[in-house]
Amino acid sequence: MSEHSNNPYYSRTDTAHLKVSNEEWKKILPKDVYNVAREKGTEWAFTGKYWKTDTLGTYYCAVCGNPLFKSDAKFASSCGWPSFFEAMTPTSVRYENDSTHGMQRTEVLCGRCDSHLGHIFDDGPAPTHQRFCMNSAVLEFEPGLK
Ligand code: FE
Repeated sequence: MSEHSNNPYYSRTDTAHLKVSNEEWKKILPKDVYNVAREKGTEWAFTGKYWKTDTLGTYYCAVCGNPLFKSDAKFASSCGWPSFFEAMTPTSVRYENDSTHGMQRTEVLCGRCDSHLGHIFDDGPAPTHQRFCMNSAVLEFEPGLK
């Protein structure tokens, strides 16, 4: 993909774990992507490009290309961020405890590049009852079924 021509780490097939410094990512990533992915920023509700989409396809990590979510696990959430009830594979994402901002939450990170994606809550729909509350800025959607 030409838009990733300046990103030597981007791959949709390579599963090797990435160890790249923030200094390096800062040179590669667009500012809004860097802010969420590497500084754990949160985009404003109802502003991201995917909060309301329901097109069939796959969501990849916008930082490294790792496949994260399928559209059939996305559900209409009123929270204003793209929401999914399950990750694509067990290694798509990993989790960390997050006690910042006076809350106990579980942070969701990309399983390949460790970028911050959002948080997971247990108020999602069946069958998992989980809600992956993600930031559009770190997702990249490719329409079509794979
Ligand atoms: Fe990633």
